[in-house]
Amino acid sequence: MNTLILNENQIDIAAKIIKNGGLVAMPTETVYGLAANALDGEAVSKIYAAKGRPSDNPLIVHVASVEDIYPLVTEFCDKAKKLIESFCPGPLTIVFPKSDVIPKEISGGLDTVAIRFPSNEIACKLIRAAGVPLAAPSANISGSPSPTACEHVKRDLFGKIDAIIDGGRCSVGVESTVITLANPEKPVLLRPGGITLEMLQSVIGNVEVDPAVLNPLAKTAKAASPGMKYKHYSPKAKVILVKGNDKAFYDFVNSQNKDDCAALCYDEDTEHITVPYVTYGSKSNYETQAKKLFTALRRIDDRGFKTVYGRCPETDGIGLAVYNRLIRAAGFEVIEL
Ligand code: AMP
Ligand code: MG
Repeated sequence: MNTLILNENQIDIAAKIIKNGGLVAMPTETVYGLAANALDGEAVSKIYAAKGRPSDNPLIVHVASVEDIYPLVTEFCDKAKKLIESFCPGPLTIVFPKSDVIPKEISGGLDTVAIRFPSNEIACKLIRAAGVPLAAPSANISGSPSPTACEHVKRDLFGKIDAIIDGGRCSVGVESTVITLANPEKPVLLRPGGITLEMLQSVIGNVEVDPAVLNPLAKTAKAASPGMKYKHYSPKAKVILVKGNDKAFYDFVNSQNKDDCAALCYDEDTEHITVPYVTYGSKSNYETQAKKLFTALRRIDDRGFKTVYGRCPETDGIGLAVYNRLIRAAGFEVIEL
């Protein structure tokens, strides 16, 4: 298949592809999404085929106005209203009880649907021009680091999808926060992201954190968010997270074999490290860590490292989202110094 590379002035071409049941990768503020008409089950199943995504991992539906959510859900509780007023458009996905217009291909057999109203202008223009909600998971091969630039999408999906709209780098850099309001009495954070746990709690009070955010899912347990059970975000190199203070981390990595390992570290660490390194943002600025993490994971493979020792990020604010992605990239392997 020939994949068109479009710019932001060619949204009409992308919208036509969507209306004809095709696939378009679009920029959003979180990561690039692989979009299809969410109301067309056949178009949606092409997303799973292009990504190699397991069919029980449900997709997020993207809309460009709050009113467009109503036909897709059967209940719109007060907490949803408050969260939407505070954080939408933006990097927040809410799980609702789904209405009958949602094809089974989207919801992976669940009776709920995840919905997001992105703030990225190009994404919103495409949704409006297509005239339908768009189902859009991250535009990468399943399991690999999420795409935060057009070249990442090209590398994973060129020749497998109809078009990519180049919208530059993504401003947040990690996927959206996912919260379920399927039971409005008990909101649960399923995936941390740009809208932090602290921000959610300031608007709707108590929000539980699903155990799968921080821990591996027991083999027999059922995932509240099926995406959580899969190995994710992983470069080909073996990633191991290392917990410890600055000096302990430097001593540890500097004692490793320089020839085949690297450190995945903060910008401030580089002058103390004698093995090769890739940085993922500033120690004190979690936003930069989120923005750079996936590019750093892809760079690790470009440079052909076999083993990478990653500094373990803090878990407050957007740090929780960075930690959640890195611990999965590491398959939950952690060394405590
Ligand atoms: P991605 O599309 O790659 O950003 O992944 C979407 C994430 O949202 C996955 O972790 C899914 O498991 C989660 N998700 C999507 N729909 C639902 C739903 N109805 N209930 C719970 N989690 C969902
Ligand atoms: Mg994904």
